[in-house]
Amino acid sequence: MTQINERVQLLNDKAANNDGKFVLYWMQMFKRTTHNHSLNFAIHQANERKVPLVVYEGLKFYYPWANDRIHTFILEGVEEKRKAFAELGIHYIFYLQQDENSPKDVIANIAKDACLIVTDDFPCFIIPKHNQRIAQKAEIPVYQVDSNGMIPMSRFEKEEYAAYTIRPKIKRMLPEYWKCEKDEKVIVRAENLHLNCPENRIENIPNLVKNCAINHSVKASSIYKGGSSTAKKRLQHFIKNIFPEYAKTRNECSVDGSSRLSPYLHFGFLSVYEIVEAVENADVPQESKEAFLEELIVRRELAYNFTRFNPNYNSLKCLPAWTQETIRKHANDRRDYLYSIEDLENFRTHDEIWNAAQRELVQTGGMHNYVRMLWGKNVIAWTRNYEEAFAILEDFNNKYALDGRNPNSYAGILWCFGKHDRPWFERPVFGTIRYMTSGSSGKKFNSKKYIEWTKSFVQPSLF
Ligand SMILES: Cc1cc2nc3c(=O)[nH]c(=O)nc-3n(C[C@H](O)[C@H](O)[C@H](O)COP(=O)(O)OP(=O)(O)OC[C@H]3O[C@@H](n4cnc5c(N)ncnc54)[C@H](O)[C@@H]3O)c2cc1C
Repeated sequence: MTQINERVQLLNDKAANNDGKFVLYWMQMFKRTTHNHSLNFAIHQANERKVPLVVYEGLKFYYPWANDRIHTFILEGVEEKRKAFAELGIHYIFYLQQDENSPKDVIANIAKDACLIVTDDFPCFIIPKHNQRIAQKAEIPVYQVDSNGMIPMSRFEKEEYAAYTIRPKIKRMLPEYWKCEKDEKVIVRAENLHLNCPENRIENIPNLVKNCAINHSVKASSIYKGGSSTAKKRLQHFIKNIFPEYAKTRNECSVDGSSRLSPYLHFGFLSVYEIVEAVENADVPQESKEAFLEELIVRRELAYNFTRFNPNYNSLKCLPAWTQETIRKHANDRRDYLYSIEDLENFRTHDEIWNAAQRELVQTGGMHNYVRMLWGKNVIAWTRNYEEAFAILEDFNNKYALDGRNPNSYAGILWCFGKHDRPWFERPVFGTIRYMTSGSSGKKFNSKKYIEWTKSFVQPSLF
């Protein structure tokens, strides 16, 4: 692997195909047509070679946790991209691989006529393996580009210990990266390009999803709709109506008091830069700006740094020594309640706030940050051992949450086990890991209203 610049890595040492008809951008995570460093790098490569650009986006049926909710959210963003790419003179192909009978290796086939491949660098889930595999398989150069956050991941040399170690580094580097690079424009428009590959028009999403060999028990969200235009609309709504009071409302689970942009950030429908531009221009109290940017930049980039540098990011092995020691010491402590996976999944516990949080997750695809912490901590208290608790949290989070399968998912879940935190007072089961109960945390927000809302089935709209 060769670092080409701060955001770009060359993953193999194959020679470019100088007879190639186009440059190929395999869009996996940054599903947007602006503010996208991968797209810009691909356009730049195409312009240098005076060939058009082809963008390929595929959706397969066998990725982990594949279900109606995730599929629908991705598909909702397809046709608007097709339109935007057509205007930009870029050839866009979207292909939905519905089951075992669908054509395979579509990307490898398209790549036969390409000069080189550009793809997205995302530090967790299936993407690192995808990129490794295509770099080995392809006969042409494969570049991965980091368009995840403000500071390129390569600017950090190692895993950061906690927010307090990464914060000063981010603050120091941020002025260099405060503005997003300018979007590139293609020189050769892809007007008469005929590619022999399967592709889909996304017309009837429920029908398409129904015919995919995926888990149909997790229904599409009735609140969150996929796509960059919905993301931008929600961003505007947030800035105008919620942001002024964000510092006060962000921990109040019973109101629409935070951005709820995490699903859009996860699927790359929105760039962190578009949010920062909107924040910069907003006339709101400084405390709201600071509180929000701490989450959006410091906490988020800490999570990306964690999954980039820690190969054990999806297991308890990644925990620091003090946590490992305390959970060893308390492994056999008696748990006051033990619940089966089925009881937890179907929100059947004695704790009404926890049930409400799980209900929100299962039914809407989202969960408020404040109860999310409580949700994770309680699963540790109510399962036989820490490994089981982690497995359940990972499964529920990644299966139901639209923002799941993200570096924040792992940093968030493992924070419940002490990652990125410090030791607190010793107590049963948790040892010195920070402890939270619905009894005390539930007093910090209107839990009665929150519980009622999750039972009402009246979902708050995004706008
Ligand atoms: C157990 C647990 C699981 C979590 N799983 C996920 C997950 O799967 N995906 C996910 O994106 N976040 C996860 N988080 C972090 C956090 O809860 C969500 O990012 C936040 O609730 C998203 O809501 P919002 O967009 O309204 O956030 P806002 O308060 O509006 O914040 C803006 C953005 O900042 C980022 N952010 C906010 N809080 C955090 C945080 N604590 N750590 C890292 N980034 C943050 C998110 O990208 C968010 O969209 C988890 C936290 C916990 C405790």
